[in-house]
Amino acid sequence: MRVILLGPPGSGKGTQADLIRQNYGFPKISTGDLLRKEVEAGTELGKKVNQEMKAGQLVSDDLVLKLVENRISLADCQSGYVLDGFPRTLNQARLLEKLESKRRETVFEFRVSEQEILRRLSGRMVCLQCGAVYNISNNKPQNDGLCDFCGSKLVVREDDRPEVIRERIRLYLETIAPLVEYYSSKKVLFEINGDDVTENIFKSIKAVLDRQLTQAGEH
Ligand code: AMP
Repeated sequence: MRVILLGPPGSGKGTQADLIRQNYGFPKISTGDLLRKEVEAGTELGKKVNQEMKAGQLVSDDLVLKLVENRISLADCQSGYVLDGFPRTLNQARLLEKLESKRRETVFEFRVSEQEILRRLSGRMVCLQCGAVYNISNNKPQNDGLCDFCGSKLVVREDDRPEVIRERIRLYLETIAPLVEYYSSKKVLFEINGDDVTENIFKSIKAVLDRQLTQAGEH
């Protein structure tokens, strides 16, 4: 099973991907996390993508696809995985399809108001090591500034500044329609009310995933 989470920044994709990982054992693959790791480590790739990421622009399809390809070839992805932040363009969706055409897929589209996005992102902290997501107001880590899962130091993302957030939302709205159309014509798309609280969102996701996995005899 390939689970794809589509949604604007701050719509809760990362948090739900963590819950899916905990409940189904599907690793979370966040292209944003993979890219941030490259930037943090100062690799050639990291240096190439740093400027685009800071400005909230998309990095090239080829670079992102390579990262995804390498990650999904690992053994822990065999029975399934969750993609958070990929695909972002119709071209990426088509390339992914080519890469692994046989795998069943379920796609969730998170719909969230801009006001709620800004509220959530203003208090967001992330773990660069394992990708876990926290929020100062409603999802604090147990120990201040440290990840509950791996103990690493939490950081505020550079692109979570209001002016960059607005650009990221604009870009999302500009590119999402063809993706939604693509997955809805494949009849694998489910809409999620991302304004709801975390537990309710996960309940809706779980209901769909349980049904899909049962039908596929994978559960
Ligand atoms: P995210 O953590 O998903 O919000 O991604 C952070 C940044 O990484 C984005 O603003 C882009 O610069 C880059 N990025 C992440 N995923 C992709 C993707 N699928 N295609 C292009 N750029 C991406």
